[in-house]
Amino acid sequence: MKTVLVGVGQAGGKVATALAEYDDEMGFRAIRDALAINSAKADLQGLPLDTVLIGQDVVKGHGVGGDNQLGAEVMQNDADEVLNELSGRIDSETEAIFIVAGLGGGTGSGGAPVLAKELERIYDVPVYAIGILPGRDEGSLYQANAGRSLKTLAREADSTILIDNDAWRETGDSVAEGMATINERIARRIGLLLAAGEPIEDRSMGLGGGGIDRDVGQSVVDTSEVINTLRGGGLAAVGYASSEASEDPDDNVNVVTSTTRQALLTGTSLPEATTADAALLVAAGRPDSLSRKGVERARSWVEEETGSMEVRGGDFPLDTDDISALVLLSGVEGSPRVTAFMNRAAEAQAETDDQSEGAAKRDAAESFQNDELDDLL
Ligand code: GDP
Repeated sequence: MKTVLVGVGQAGGKVATALAEYDDEMGFRAIRDALAINSAKADLQGLPLDTVLIGQDVVKGHGVGGDNQLGAEVMQNDADEVLNELSGRIDSETEAIFIVAGLGGGTGSGGAPVLAKELERIYDVPVYAIGILPGRDEGSLYQANAGRSLKTLAREADSTILIDNDAWRETGDSVAEGMATINERIARRIGLLLAAGEPIEDRSMGLGGGGIDRDVGQSVVDTSEVINTLRGGGLAAVGYASSEASEDPDDNVNVVTSTTRQALLTGTSLPEATTADAALLVAAGRPDSLSRKGVERARSWVEEETGSMEVRGGDFPLDTDDISALVLLSGVEGSPRVTAFMNRAAEAQAETDDQSEGAAKRDAAESFQNDELDDLL
């Protein structure tokens, strides 16, 4: 999927960098351009991407702190400049625009929904968001910010892929190491998803120069399958797992199915999200080890597990000794993790909001469009 990537805020800039570097290292060339936007000058310095500093007249390059309302305002004020920077990068080849942001902060949290709205207004290609949820141990302001941002972002973007910062944290990591690990994981998963739809001849496979013959993979994933999976809108998640392929093709039926189970049951970006409206299974590996029977069985299993009748599946030929399974889940707003998060955010908003005295006593919200949470826009 030929993508233009926009990172907003600190986390957005770092994750966009990790993604662009992964895409480059792998030779996928799915990410055609990447831009980082921030109101804090210091957070843009050192990023190997083109950058736009917003809100200079208001915050003088010092950032908006944790004020996501101000983050939304400075993005809106400088929208023309940002859109102008993007207009030279988004062209007739572009198949999707991805906005990535940490939802708990200020610039990304406030800026991403505004940017999504502006881009939707102008471009026909889908505008997707990758939204990073704060970990449970982050403070109330982060939770409240993320709740308001997510509520608005989910409405403005065509689909929002959620990454829970608690999902892929390694115990024992420092915060900085932890973030680097999470960012690499996001890069690999989203990077593979974007690359999955790219024509094989565009990929440097390192297989003796000739690349992989398209005929060998019988059912190669296409960009339209990613877009169709996300078509229902709302919230999405990605799962991923990888195992060593066996020499014996018959054994690989099981490797594909067990790796898929692992991807969905223990490897998703939103833990406990297993029910979905639609899903896409991408099996990556050498074509001779990607068992057709395995991929079909794994696809049926995903159908049963998610309760969705709309599960697409396909191959992604890749020169590696492993077999990897990437599962994209769309329509996960009913998952317990989302409801729990939205309630946590609504409570945090009540705590941080002087005017809502007593509002902390509330019934658990039934839906992720939590009425207790204010919209940002
Ligand atoms: P902004 O610069 O004002 O948009 O704020 P940040 O991007 O720093 O957003 C803060 C939120 O993003 C917090 O919930 C952090 O946990 C998270 N965050 C900050 N940096 C990173 C990062 O590099 N990776 C990930 N995954 N999350 C991050």
